Amino acid sequence: MTTVLVLNADLGPLHRVSLRHAVRMLCRQVAVIEEAVPDRLIGVFPMPRIVRLVKYVVTRWRYTNGPGWTRPGVIRRDNATCGYCGGSANTVDHILPRSRGGKNTWKNTVAACYRCNQRKADCTPAEAGMVLRVKPVAPTWFALAGA
Ligand SMILES: [Zn+2]
Repeated sequence: MTTVLVLNADLGPLHRVSLRHAVRMLCRQVAVIEEAVPDRLIGVFPMPRIVRLVKYVVTRWRYTNGPGWTRPGVIRRDNATCGYCGGSANTVDHILPRSRGGKNTWKNTVAACYRCNQRKADCTPAEAGMVLRVKPVAPTWFALAGA
């Protein structure tokens, strides 16, 4: 089923609703289209992919944190590009190695190719003489959704 992401008035992601529900929100003018599917119409509206509430809604169930850390999430965040050599990555490197207390967090992990990951081993990038080309950040929930 096609679902539509609903953003709060401050652009914070709230939840997903059915396309029908989203169109009703547009009709009632409680929401406006933030992003639409190109060249698709639902009645008079462009087919929404993301809608934004007109008025800010305070909710208990609002996403206050971004998405939780996962290995596939790291690869996805980094577009499967090795943070060290720019090659294609299919492993996740811990910048501060886990053996030395590095955690599974967005900021401590980066997508890496097998070669770089092996080369870096249990070192920090500086110790291994490797330069990290990217600054790992915690992605928004939205960026990972791949909308
Ligand atoms: Zn590499």
